[in-house]
Formats: sequence, C-alpha cells, structure tokens
Amino acid sequence: MTLAAVQRINLYDLDKDALTTLLASWGYSSFHVEQLWEYLYRQQQTDFATMNALRPDLRQRLAQQAMLATPSIAASSDSSDGYTRKYLLRLADGHTIETVLMYFEGRDDSGSNSNARATACISTQVGCAMGCVFCATGQMGFTRHLTPGEIVAQVLHVQRVLADRGETLRNIVLMGMGEPLHNYDHTMTALAILTDHKGLALAPKHITLSTVGIVPGIKRLADEERPYRLAVSLHGATDAERQALVPPAKRWPLAELIDACRDYIDRRKRRIFFEWTLIDGKNDTPAQAHALGQLLHGLDAHVNLIPLNPTIGYDGEATGETAVKQFQAILSSYGLPSTVRQRRGIDIAAGCGQLKAQHQGE
Ligand code: SAH
Ligand code: SF4
Repeated sequence: MTLAAVQRINLYDLDKDALTTLLASWGYSSFHVEQLWEYLYRQQQTDFATMNALRPDLRQRLAQQAMLATPSIAASSDSSDGYTRKYLLRLADGHTIETVLMYFEGRDDSGSNSNARATACISTQVGCAMGCVFCATGQMGFTRHLTPGEIVAQVLHVQRVLADRGETLRNIVLMGMGEPLHNYDHTMTALAILTDHKGLALAPKHITLSTVGIVPGIKRLADEERPYRLAVSLHGATDAERQALVPPAKRWPLAELIDACRDYIDRRKRRIFFEWTLIDGKNDTPAQAHALGQLLHGLDAHVNLIPLNPTIGYDGEATGETAVKQFQAILSSYGLPSTVRQRRGIDIAAGCGQLKAQHQGE
C-alpha cells in the first residue's frame, strides 16, 4: 500500500486511551502520548512540524499518517449588541455546521459574580433526524453524525477566537445543530477529550447536554454516571401538545420520559433543566403552565423558558412579555423555578440552525 492510500487519522477523534493505543502500535510509550496531548490541547498547536519536543521520528510518522482536521469559516455574523458571534463552519467533506460564541454578564447559576462568562454552543450532527416543527435544524432533516473530532474542533475554534481577545472559555452547551443522544458515543468521546484535566480541562459541571428526550440515552447517562449537566427539551406538558411540536414524543410518551428523568435525578443527585420554547397561542397558555407545574411536581427541576426564534419553515410567533410573566408566575405557584433565556443575537439568526438555513447551498 502506498502512503497516499493510507487513510490519515484525525487525532482530534481520539480520546487519551485511543491515542495511547495508536502510539503504542507505533512503539511509543505514554510519555510521548502526554507530550503530544499537551501540544494538541494545552498549546493548541496544529502543525506537527513545530512540535519541537516530540521525537523527530514521531513527528515524521504523524506528518505521514495523522492530521488535525480544522474546519474553515464559511460565514460568520455578530449580533448588534456584541454579545453573540455565530459561525458557520465548513467540515472536510464540505458540509457546514453552526457554532455560536456567547458572552453573558453578571451572576452565574451558582450565584457568584463573574463579569463575562463565555459560552460555546456547539453542534453534534449535520442536520437532525428529530423533526421538531419550530426548529430550523429539524426542518433541514438529517445528513450525518459529527465525529468526535468535529465536535472537539468547534471548541478549539472558539478557544482560538477567545484567546485573541485575552479571554477563556467557561461553558459549553450542546444546543447547536443535532441531537446529542442520537450520536451518543461520538458525543461522549468528545466530552471526555474536552474535560481531560491535562488538556482543555473544561469542568464537567460547566457542560450542558440538551436532549429532545431520548429515553434510552437518558438512562445510559445515569447508568454510566456521566458528570455533565442535563437539559431536557419539553415544550409540551401533555402528550398531545408535545407530539404536535416534537415528533419523538410519540415514541417516548411523557410518563416514560418523566420516569427516566426522576430516576436520573434520584440516582445522580442532580437537577435537570427543562427547556420550553414559548410559542404564542400554542404552548404558552395558563392550562399548559398548570400541566407543567403538575408534571414536574416534586422533581429537582428548573425550567428555561425560551421565546420562539421565528424560522422560515414554521408559522409561529414568540410569546409576548406579559404572557411569559404569567406563565412563570403559574410555575412559581407550584414551587417550580424558571428563567427566561435571553434571546440574544436574534438579529443574527442565532436560533438553532438558522444561519445555515440562510446559507443553504454553501
Ligand atoms: N437536539 C437537542 C439540542 C439542540 S436544540 C434538543 O432539542 O434539546 C437546543 C434547544 O433549542 C432546544 O431546547 C430546542 O427546542 C431549542 N430550539 C430549537 N429551535 C428553536 C427556535 N426556533 N426557537 C427557540 N428555541 C429553539
Ligand atoms: Fe433536533 Fe433539537 Fe432541533 Fe428538535 S430541537 S429538531 S431535537 S436540534
């Protein structure tokens, strides 16, 4: 086999164990793995030729058989308030995905004060198979899963942008394109890479995985004791209302979903965040708020209310301020805490999948 015919290995796809196995097969010890890992994730170098501390024969082998796949920027846009920057990143096969960098000011969820906390919103798939009616990504359909390296590369991209401004990344939310629990293994490998304490060392408690409610995936997260924060997208508190917005709700009815959530909370001793996209006249009624209060009663839960970002493929509007307040007040009457998420960046189409929808064909 000629060298040109050898498929290069994207090192960003490999967690520490897999990199150790690869280097061991080439005859290198874990010492060399640690050196290389430091170059990849601490120094974030992308050229093997400049990794001077590596043995020259290892550098040469890497140059011949490995690569560090870095997506290019197909488009980007800034929100007028300067708090959100959205990137459309082009992958090696030409497909594009969205990655968003957000800054929030003020107090964080733990109550401590931090001036600017940067958050990366990253994608796990090209498109999505779940078909939620109001979601731009759902409207596109599913193209393919992202590899672990393609998930990791989005974070490295954001890190580079922040480093140029003298800032660091604190939070990651898996709320870009795609359903992370439909791409479970690749997502978990990527998160293991991102949280490795000798690499990027992101704190698991600052990583939020958002799911449409894939019950077997939630059970697996609990079984495997994954340390990340979990958000479950609900959008409807009765099966009929939820199924009209979220097609997978037909496969996993609310009773089953909430059972899995209760079990997760009990076993992991962790709160779950429930996402609720507020759509005018659809799921923002007092009846839905009461049903939600009853559904989540007794659970360690927090509700994130997100007024709808309008999309081309869905004829719905965001709930107005008064109705949002009323919805929140009803939830409070059940002792259920909630936060209205800022719709920052709406002028740059910062809803999931919307920048890509505007650049179809690129
Ligand atoms: N697939 C996962 C994660 C990606 S979507 C999930 O569904 O949870 C991240 C969040 O954005 C979800 O809560 C989703 O319902 C919400 N969302 C999608 N499209 C939206 C829109 N147009 N307006 C407001 N929220 C939206
Ligand atoms: Fe997929 Fe989440 Fe969009 Fe639903 S909301 S289509 S699960 S990305």
